[in-house]
Amino acid sequence: MSKSMSTEAVTGKFGEFGGSYVPEALQRVLTKIAEAFDHYRDDPEFNQEFRHYLKEYVGRDNPLTLARNLTEQMGGARIYLKREDLNHTGAHKINNTIGQILLAKRMGAKRIIAETGAGQHGVATATVAALFGLPCTIYMGKYDTERQALNVFRMELLGAKVVPVEKGQGRLKDAVDAALEDLVENHETTYYLLGSAVGPHPYPTMVHYFQSVISEESKHQILEKEGRLPAAVIACVGGGSNAIGAFAHYLDEPSVRLIGVEPAEAASIAEGVPAVIHGFKCYALMDEHNNPKPTFSIAAGLDYPGVGPEHSYLKASGRGDYVTVTGKEALDAFLTLSKIEGIIPALESAHAVAYAMKFARTLPKDESVIVNLSGRGDKDVKQVFDMLQKQ
Ligand SMILES: *Cc1c(COP(=O)(O)O)cnc(C)c1O
Repeated sequence: MSKSMSTEAVTGKFGEFGGSYVPEALQRVLTKIAEAFDHYRDDPEFNQEFRHYLKEYVGRDNPLTLARNLTEQMGGARIYLKREDLNHTGAHKINNTIGQILLAKRMGAKRIIAETGAGQHGVATATVAALFGLPCTIYMGKYDTERQALNVFRMELLGAKVVPVEKGQGRLKDAVDAALEDLVENHETTYYLLGSAVGPHPYPTMVHYFQSVISEESKHQILEKEGRLPAAVIACVGGGSNAIGAFAHYLDEPSVRLIGVEPAEAASIAEGVPAVIHGFKCYALMDEHNNPKPTFSIAAGLDYPGVGPEHSYLKASGRGDYVTVTGKEALDAFLTLSKIEGIIPALESAHAVAYAMKFARTLPKDESVIVNLSGRGDKDVKQVFDMLQKQ
């Protein structure tokens, strides 16, 4: 997509970040999606239906759990876990896929397509496509289909067609390109359901909207439990969708620190430079030829060389703090949370837990912090088993 950038849309800007840097044919399709979203986000019936599925299908509200043992062990602020791991399908991604498929239905789509890296967004998309009876094609890099064979089978169980993309390196970027090509060709019938707070406008804005239910709930819950706002909200950042959802309702509360945690091995914000990748502007890790650099996080969902434009803006404006933890620290947090709280976190979420463990100690005991536990770790148990064997 980086070759023929002809249109720079003025919409969807977060400071200098975001926007839409795509060829004209694709821009026309994105504009249609943006117009539909602008219309339906204010439509009470649409929002009512979204809430209905979040409650009856996803199982929301999910709890804000006080991690009593972890808090005691750290000896500082009370650590609360927002339990996205308890959603149907085991992570926050379903909030967004429900929202976008309802939009797709309203737009008259007859077919859903999506990209996936590790397979988690593919599974969340295949799930809602099954629920709403729409045929679904998932593009996945060939290399990734081999690493994640079980997720491929999950998507197939859910009725989706998984297309291995052999072009390029057979990774996420190549899957995105294949999905966009499909979209441009078949836009009359097809909706492209994007999985994180990245990509050209309107996706970052739309994903923010659907994921903000996380902080809408947590704000009510923390006020009920603590009688005041938390000192900080802490979330892991891959593309940035769980983090922006966890931050959204605190953006205008200057007393609440917003802390995004990146893997040290894929630290797009902490170590990146402003650049245009995949059709939008953000902080990104670039190589000497100005191409996105391959990254190597132990958490597949955090393995992305760019980051959502809103996080880029929160970093640049100073409203958000972005920190890194290593894979080793995340693995330790994974083991600790499992052992002393009885909660096996996703390796992605374990990055946020790892930082919270360091950070909570520095705060007085009468303060609290919220950690967004973006997903459950069942998917990672085999990988952790292998990592421990090698140690
Ligand atoms: C996909 C995923 C992430 C990373 O994606 P974001 O868009 O940054 O939230 C984090 N945690 C889990 C459990 C995931 O599945």
